[in-house]
Amino acid sequence: MKHCPICNRSSEEARFYGEFCEFCAGKKLKSKLPGDVSVEQCKDCGRIKVLGAFMPETKGGMELLLARVFRPYSIRLIHSSNGIARILVTDEKQGGLSLEHNVHLKVSKTLCDMDAKKRSSYYEAVVQFRGDAEKVARAAASLERYLEKNGAFVTKIEQKEHGVDVFASDKKVALSFISVRHMKWKGSFELHGEKRGKRLYRNTYFITL
Ligand SMILES: [Zn+2]
Ligand SMILES: [Zn+2]
Repeated sequence: MKHCPICNRSSEEARFYGEFCEFCAGKKLKSKLPGDVSVEQCKDCGRIKVLGAFMPETKGGMELLLARVFRPYSIRLIHSSNGIARILVTDEKQGGLSLEHNVHLKVSKTLCDMDAKKRSSYYEAVVQFRGDAEKVARAAASLERYLEKNGAFVTKIEQKEHGVDVFASDKKVALSFISVRHMKWKGSFELHGEKRGKRLYRNTYFITL
């Protein structure tokens, strides 16, 4: 008969893992487990970064990510929601001692390579703000916020001699911003390709502030 050196339970009262009873062995294991796990997630496609590559945020993908963090223990994802993952952790070296554990998923938003590339080159409209430097800067910043709030984004902003050019991913959203702000604009429309028989234009809006 064994006695646990921490709580003095005997091997008749509890299962033993090594020299400790199941309760104390469980507590010891629990104290070694991380409570937080960082997750990098692409803000455009929602995929998560696992082993250096982006993959869909499925149960399998999340399990793979957590498995790496919880090595040398093996894990199984029970469920995850609202930034908390519940997992079953097993210590194979301790005769299969296992327990359930909650992990806080600390999500940081990033861009996967594919979307970074998309963002760096894709635009449908150029909004050219010209005039007073401060007004131009304010208008560019609020256009950027407006685009992001409406599911679009700024590809790039170019400084020009008398203002800035804001390259916007969505011309409808860009034009909606201009109308909401009652800005007077002059436009030009440049054909830049065709998609399924439809002509695609890149629009330029020239606005003096
Ligand atoms: Zn014990
Ligand atoms: Zn992405």
